[in-house]
Amino acid sequence: MLAPPGAGKGTQGERIAERYGVPRIGSGDLFREEVAQQTPLGKTVQSYLKAGDLVPDDVVLSLIMNRVIAAARTSGGYVLDGFPRTLPQAEAAADLAREANTSAQVVLYLDAPPEVLVARVAGRGENRADDSEAVAKHRLEVYTEHTKPLLDYYTKRGLVLTIDAAPPIETVSQAIFAALDKIDD
Ligand code: ADP
Repeated sequence: MLAPPGAGKGTQGERIAERYGVPRIGSGDLFREEVAQQTPLGKTVQSYLKAGDLVPDDVVLSLIMNRVIAAARTSGGYVLDGFPRTLPQAEAAADLAREANTSAQVVLYLDAPPEVLVARVAGRGENRADDSEAVAKHRLEVYTEHTKPLLDYYTKRGLVLTIDAAPPIETVSQAIFAALDKIDD
């Protein structure tokens, strides 16, 4: 899944995982768990999360890669939510997929205008340390600079499926399911 903060990536990712019976691997959730448990990795990433900055690629890869490998081995697929988020991460993920003889089936891009995104993040009341309006705006800038270029990268590879994420949750889910149901496995 590729989406700016506030597009509903986490919510829709969970719904997709449930519908198709596959695990969802959410990098943001994994980082927040590490922070909550005050693990060494959690202590390393805490300040990045709080500021809305990207965690360095090597740290991200050390957390995510083993889980992706395990999910590829043990389940019929998985939903990746929040990873990859930079071109080097995308390249590392592609290398790994090649080695494991698998590939990304689809890149789901959730699109919504910036004013909808910032209002949603600031108003969602999840008590996330990075949801204040200022940090939400910064996360959107970080997304635009570092993550949005992945849209080109995956469009060139013919993988992108774009869904309008501005409507209510249920409407967006139905649009996603209708599009994913059409894809052969
Ligand atoms: P959102 O998409 O709403 O910003 P996430 O839960 O996906 O929320 O991510 C929260 C934070 O976790 C990010 O702002 C960043 O600090 C960190 N993070 C998550 N995934 C990555 C990643 N793949 N690379 C770098 N940082 C990440």
